[in-house]
Amino acid sequence: MTTPLDFTHETRPVRVVFRSGASVTATPGEVARLALHRVLVVSGGRGTEAAHAVAAALGDSCAGVHSGARMHVPVEVADEAVEAVRAAGADGCVAVGGGSAIGLGKAIALRTGLPLIAVPSTYSGSEMTSVWGLTEQGVKRTGRDSSVQPRCVVYDPDLTLGLPVPLSVTSGVNALAHAVEALYAPDASPLVSLMAEEGVRAMAGALPGVAADPGDPQARGRALYGAWLCGSCLGSTTMGLHHKLCHVLGGTFGLPHAETHTVLLPYTLAHNAAAAPEAVAVLARALDTDDVPRALRELAGRLGAPRTLAELGMKEADLARAATQLAAESFPNPREVTANGVLGLLTAAYEGWEPRSETP
Ligand code: NAD
Repeated sequence: MTTPLDFTHETRPVRVVFRSGASVTATPGEVARLALHRVLVVSGGRGTEAAHAVAAALGDSCAGVHSGARMHVPVEVADEAVEAVRAAGADGCVAVGGGSAIGLGKAIALRTGLPLIAVPSTYSGSEMTSVWGLTEQGVKRTGRDSSVQPRCVVYDPDLTLGLPVPLSVTSGVNALAHAVEALYAPDASPLVSLMAEEGVRAMAGALPGVAADPGDPQARGRALYGAWLCGSCLGSTTMGLHHKLCHVLGGTFGLPHAETHTVLLPYTLAHNAAAAPEAVAVLARALDTDDVPRALRELAGRLGAPRTLAELGMKEADLARAATQLAAESFPNPREVTANGVLGLLTAAYEGWEPRSETP
């Protein structure tokens, strides 16, 4: 028997352009469409080539390139970027890069109210959300604000051709995590479920091709399409145990973002599985498996991704502290979150045990 339909769905106004070469061929038109005349291009230190190509395509509409983005948007990095926007007299921003560059664009939008265009070069999905993050004295604060939602997203698979395979795989699994948690979110809807299923199918199907031939435009296009759908799931719902746990491990214990998502996802899903049978059924269909946690772990491991928290530098002695910290937080999750339960899943992920779907 299926659950009776009962949902609220809000569609946000985001224009999406998806085309090979679009970062340079479509971005100028999108800037003009928003009636912008002097945009600042923001990027991370490693994404400058693509950022400069976009800046060159923008010609006189470009007020400069600011390449100061850093992971988790430290406040001083946001301060410098806002200063650069003011000094350049910019009337908008174009963020070119991964979640860090887009995060910096969002911080600028939050402080100045200027419109943002996102040109993503990873699969992490920030471009489809109104979630911002800022890190001050080692503590990351996040929030939702419609002013930070990019007004337009330009997806260009060509930009991702040079994304190294390890980063492609882990940021692809980061995208899968958005779809997984959206499926059991309290604000899920039938549309979110459709996007999640198709997003998981596209991403999981594309990643082996990306790993085998990183320059394959077809595989890259499918992966970026999956990233769009999974990012849309993230933007439409409230995340649970998995994202909160990654947030604690990244924020307090300094673990790397996409890699932590990759190691933990099979274990957090195994932990929640019995309390979210409909979500698991959708994922089983998308991945064509009868053991979703195991299939997720096998996929990432086969493509060379890290498999244990120990490999990421987590200390065994810190597992209990992380579990207690998480259990003290309040967030929606299909299964009740206890410090003991979280310690169990963290220990399994630390050791790299086979994930087993648990009965609460
Ligand atoms: P990232 O943006 O930090 O990029 C990782 C590295 O890859 C960087 O050194 C970057 O310069 C490089 N890189 C990016 N694209 C490249 C390309 N095409 N070729 C070669 N190198 C490239 O990584 P990410 O995983 O995309 O983003 C992580 C950050 O985004 C975290 O701070 C996370 O919290 C945030 N995030 C936010 C949201 C949201 O909704 N607000 C969603 C997902 C992630």
